[in-house]
Amino acid sequence: MFTIAIDGPSGSGKSTAAKMVARQLGAGYLDTGAMYRAVAVGCMNAGIDHEDEEGIAAYCHNMELEISTDPDHESVRLGGVDVTQAIRAPEVSAWVSAVSTNPACRVELVRRQQAIIAGGDFVAEGRDITTVVAPEAKVRVLLTADPQARMDRRGAELAGAVDEAGLRDQVLRRDRDDSTLVNFTTASTGVVTIDSTFLTPAEVVGRILLLAKRAGLDVD
Ligand code: C5P
Repeated sequence: MFTIAIDGPSGSGKSTAAKMVARQLGAGYLDTGAMYRAVAVGCMNAGIDHEDEEGIAAYCHNMELEISTDPDHESVRLGGVDVTQAIRAPEVSAWVSAVSTNPACRVELVRRQQAIIAGGDFVAEGRDITTVVAPEAKVRVLLTADPQARMDRRGAELAGAVDEAGLRDQVLRRDRDDSTLVNFTTASTGVVTIDSTFLTPAEVVGRILLLAKRAGLDVD
């Protein structure tokens, strides 16, 4: 069994690359950001205040969360309710830092993520996979890109749904808040940095697969 761990800020292209690598290797795909987003949606729906640390932690601890690990089928369910679309709303991107900066919530989500990837071959992506969730992973990558390139990519994804200020909030402000508890801007020892600013998704994938091959994984 193997894990490939990919961290990086928003808009670095990690979801696209991680899914492509998982498909290529016949592995599962774990989008840990979707789990943080799901907690945010659940708390918002339950009327929990974003400053209510204990309320958020308790929600996180008790929630029934199911996430698809099929790279070709995105699905997130909370208490049996489909929240796959809801977790991508701009309000959720604004709320989610209240979850990611909640230490008790991080402990709970890391525990659940480790339980999932222990079940098979996985490509897992997020902010703390290379350092906290799977520091023993066969391949550990930090995917970066220039802030402007990341804003442009997120803007294209959202197809005009947010203005420039909204984009800055979603990308730059979120990076700043997110980096208060985890370090995903500099690679720790043994983690390979790939700068995707001038690379196509296929080129990024090619580099990750090369690292996987070097680590002894059966890539062909
Ligand atoms: O990757 P994505 O942008 O969907 O992640 C949503 C949010 O979840 C991030 O802004 C961050 O606050 C949080 N997150 C995290 N640790 C991870 C993955 C995501 O704190 N491993």
